[in-house]
Amino acid sequence: MRIEIITIGDELLLGFTIDTNAAHLARELAAVGVEIVHRTTVGDRADDITRAVSEALDRTGAVVTTGGLGPTSDDLTKPTIASLFARRMILDETIVEAMKARWKTLKRTGPFPHSNYAQAMIPEGAVILVNRHGSAPGIWLDDDRSRWVAMLPGVPREMRGMLAEELLPLIVARAGAAGAAERATVIRSRTLRTTGVAESALADQLGDLARGVNGLELAFLPGVDGVDLRLTVRGLAAANADVALAAAVMKLRERAGRCVYGEESADLGEIVLDMCRRRSLHLAVAESCTGGMLGSRLTSVAGSSDVFLGGVIAYDNSVKRKWLGVSSDLLDEHGAVSEAVALAMARSAREGMGAEIAIAITGVAGPDGGTALKPVGMVWVAIDGRVAEARCLHLFGTREEVRLRATQAALDMVRRSLDTH
Ligand code: ATP
Repeated sequence: MRIEIITIGDELLLGFTIDTNAAHLARELAAVGVEIVHRTTVGDRADDITRAVSEALDRTGAVVTTGGLGPTSDDLTKPTIASLFARRMILDETIVEAMKARWKTLKRTGPFPHSNYAQAMIPEGAVILVNRHGSAPGIWLDDDRSRWVAMLPGVPREMRGMLAEELLPLIVARAGAAGAAERATVIRSRTLRTTGVAESALADQLGDLARGVNGLELAFLPGVDGVDLRLTVRGLAAANADVALAAAVMKLRERAGRCVYGEESADLGEIVLDMCRRRSLHLAVAESCTGGMLGSRLTSVAGSSDVFLGGVIAYDNSVKRKWLGVSSDLLDEHGAVSEAVALAMARSAREGMGAEIAIAITGVAGPDGGTALKPVGMVWVAIDGRVAEARCLHLFGTREEVRLRATQAALDMVRRSLDTH
């Protein structure tokens, strides 16, 4: 089955809201074998909604919209599409009652707002998609040529709930009616997460696999954490798709080697904590340019307290001297952003906090403060454990990206060092 998505809202066109609804819909629909062939975003204008929906119906005959279902005047989706389908809007008393009951349950004060009645106006002959996560109901509308539009709310939480509980079962039933062969196929993906290697270098390393693995599509998805490799299989039955993906993942992992640290949404902080836990090791950190970001990342993982002991944010040199015992001589001779100071910070954090491993980060996050010898993005990361080692990184991006990349690189140094010991 082929479907189009239309997301509606001025805030999407203006760039104030990122269109996460379209991404979520595409992933969820692909998982049940539905192919998204076209995606459109339009503002809150009736003419634009009409044009987009009617073009999509002509092309594909199956459309999911999000947004514009609420009670305010910019919520035009329902009346506009009803008019395209030549349907009257009628008040649905059951929806009014449900909204009144919800108003009471939520203990809202004051009279039930009149504008809520707009949400209970439904195109004649529509199927109502129940909203268990908000007030605006969704709508499914068919025409006499079996073309259909499903209208979901814009609020992501409401949209996701309604999709899972109401719309997907309807679409799966439709796809079933559309043909057994098509129904039996799925679109599935698996993602390998890599870090510490540039996209182009990774492509070189993968060689012929960079163009696809065993006939499966391979996408390179670079981000601040590293480059994700996403394999996608289409047109196979679910069990065959899983087998094909497993074989391709194994082949890709072998070729990509040590830069792979996990799958799907794996977090490197969590992985490093697990590795330490299994080896009964404790971690401490000493951070300069990342200002606690590494400690925050580690403590955001539930259960990190059995591994992570604590850290020192040694931003100013006086703190490096007083709390980490880095000598003035070392700071004067090498500067704060140097191998010697990074190593001294890590050693002192490990000894001072009684950890088996400590990580230190000191660098120039920018956008100012760079020099010819120590440019913006230059970061020294050191780890002190069974052995002490330091690496000089040259990171790019905004101040925030440099700091994020530095924490990821520091965690990766620990992962790789534990892997070999
Ligand atoms: P409501 O009943 O709350 O008015 P609605 O169905 O009318 O919901 P909108 O008013 O269009 O939906 O959007 C409500 C909020 O949902 C927006 O302010 C925006 O934050 C979010 N939103 C809308 N569309 C999207 C989208 N495509 N992706 C992510 N968020 C979205």
